[in-house]
Amino acid sequence: MTGIRVAIVGGGPVGLAAALFASRAGMTPIVMEARDHDGDKACGEGLMPGVLPLLDELGLDPPGHDLIGVSYRQGARQVDHLFPGAPGRGVRRTALVAAMRAETDRQGIERRHARVTGLTQDSSGVRVHCEGSEDVDADYVLGCDGLHSTIARGLGLVSRPSRRARRYGLRQHFQRAPWDSMIEVYYAGDAELYITPVDAETVGVAVLGPKGINLSDTIAQVPQVREKLAGVPAASSLRGAGPFPYRARSAQVGRVLLVGDAAGYVDAITGEGLRVGFAQAREAIQALQIGQPASYPRRWRKVTREFRLLTRGLVVLASSPLRESIVPLASAAPRVFGVVVNRLAR
Ligand SMILES: Cc1cc2nc3c(=O)[nH]c(=O)nc-3n(C[C@H](O)[C@H](O)[C@H](O)COP(=O)(O)OP(=O)(O)OC[C@H]3O[C@@H](n4cnc5c(N)ncnc54)[C@H](O)[C@@H]3O)c2cc1C
Repeated sequence: MTGIRVAIVGGGPVGLAAALFASRAGMTPIVMEARDHDGDKACGEGLMPGVLPLLDELGLDPPGHDLIGVSYRQGARQVDHLFPGAPGRGVRRTALVAAMRAETDRQGIERRHARVTGLTQDSSGVRVHCEGSEDVDADYVLGCDGLHSTIARGLGLVSRPSRRARRYGLRQHFQRAPWDSMIEVYYAGDAELYITPVDAETVGVAVLGPKGINLSDTIAQVPQVREKLAGVPAASSLRGAGPFPYRARSAQVGRVLLVGDAAGYVDAITGEGLRVGFAQAREAIQALQIGQPASYPRRWRKVTREFRLLTRGLVVLASSPLRESIVPLASAAPRVFGVVVNRLAR
């Protein structure tokens, strides 16, 4: 089926990927993005090896720094896992979004600066209500508006997580040459610190943990990172995200499908999000292409299952008394650790 009008709410990476998949399928996508900015967001910015073939499928090859594996460190203990095939890539969010926007422009996809405030749907279509632009009529809507999605909330699909379970993320870049081609993950107190090289002159630093986490305090707790970043100027402003976990009760209601973080996000502990987000975008467009939006929740469950289970398991472990034993256990069972990392890196 072609000529289908798809309104995409949110011009983050997943919304832009959905627009590119839709355009390739002969549909007419329109992207509505609330913020007039460079697309920056708190993110670890590690594209796992499995993301690059998906980007390639969309004609995208964003600039960045090769990532050859993941190194987990706790005190004096360290366990490394090298990706078995092609490397992943550390890519600044702004560089990723710029490459995706350029490709949507090349394909003549309309992108509109508009904040979506709600929608109404019936059996013939959906009207998207916008602030800052005229309303948009479409056959289908993809809610790609991220964590705590306005679209999901408007559909009554969101319940709040318990306060105890809430975690948050922070991120800032520092202007110095990367010292490693692995993503380094440090367990520091009740937070996790992620170091990702994103280009020849910049490293990204992200921290995850409970409410109140502080990036410089966490860096100060990790001597290996503290020394490398001493006196190094920041290359971006500090950004935050959260709380997670977040989950919409269903990924589809009538003509509206939720895609990416808008449908649910467990945690950033596994450095994932983009791969599963792009995979959801592809599944959503395929469901619309065959005229079966109701097939999307089943497809969504399938492409997110492993991410949800492994990530939930790791968060439970990291929040338990076994936290102190994560790296020692991983180094005692390197095969099991390798299998887990490989599953996440696909
Ligand atoms: C600290 C941290 C580290 C992470 N590290 C990694 C990592 O290393 N690798 C990885 O793959 N993933 C990582 N993730 C996850 C990844 O950042 C997300 O999964 C990804 O950004 C989801 O993309 P998205 O397009 O669904 O949502 P977003 O990137 O949140 O984009 C949503 C867009 O919708 C727009 N929007 C919101 N509301 C409206 C509205 N009402 N109208 C119009 N537009 C609207 C927003 O402005 C935004 O541009 C991390 C996340 C965090 C928090």
